[in-house]
Amino acid sequence: MLTGSTIVYQCPKCGQLVLGQSILSVNDIKAKYYSDGRMEGPYFCEQNSITECPACSKVFWLDPKNQVDEFHEDYDRGDPQIANHYHSLGDWAPRLDIQGWRRAISEKVFGNLKEELFLQKSLLWELNKYFLKHCEWESSEQLKLWEDTIQDLLLIIQPQRPQEYLLKAELQRNLGQFEQALESLDKITDQDYLAKAYQLHQRILAQDRWVFRFQVPSWLWFLDSE
Ligand SMILES: [Zn+2]
Repeated sequence: MLTGSTIVYQCPKCGQLVLGQSILSVNDIKAKYYSDGRMEGPYFCEQNSITECPACSKVFWLDPKNQVDEFHEDYDRGDPQIANHYHSLGDWAPRLDIQGWRRAISEKVFGNLKEELFLQKSLLWELNKYFLKHCEWESSEQLKLWEDTIQDLLLIIQPQRPQEYLLKAELQRNLGQFEQALESLDKITDQDYLAKAYQLHQRILAQDRWVFRFQVPSWLWFLDSE
């Protein structure tokens, strides 16, 4: 993973400064893939694109509209005085947690369907991360939130590409709509997605609803850490 400049953002409500790290490149070596479409790996990091202001709690996008400056941390390219100046004024922009994603959705901070999809999927991923870690839900309320989030996602996704049909099948499987999930899987013919589609198919036949980690192809096993 290669990082670039540090970007300075300003909260549009109270003016508090926060810092964001730009990420120039990532790779998927030793990455783990999950049935909800999420990927994690030692050399992979999703650029933080939305935050909650540490001073006034406003949820806002880390986008050019809220950007006020940019500097480099490294001494050969950057000026340590500028870096120290900004680090004294603001911390790294925090990533949203489950409550943060819920607020972003309920306050409708999205401006288009793509952003709404991103927020709903991020909330689903955060909930699934909890489940993968604990192998159960925290409460019946959390399970209900998970199901509601999946229903909302199913209403807005418009699958065209194989990975989107894979996600649709996953969401239908999560809700126990196994017949529909199989129909969505039937739309996938792209070789690159057949291994994942097969594993999802097996889970559907077992009437298993929960998120799981995809097994990597055998020729990649030697790269896999577990
Ligand atoms: Zn603020």
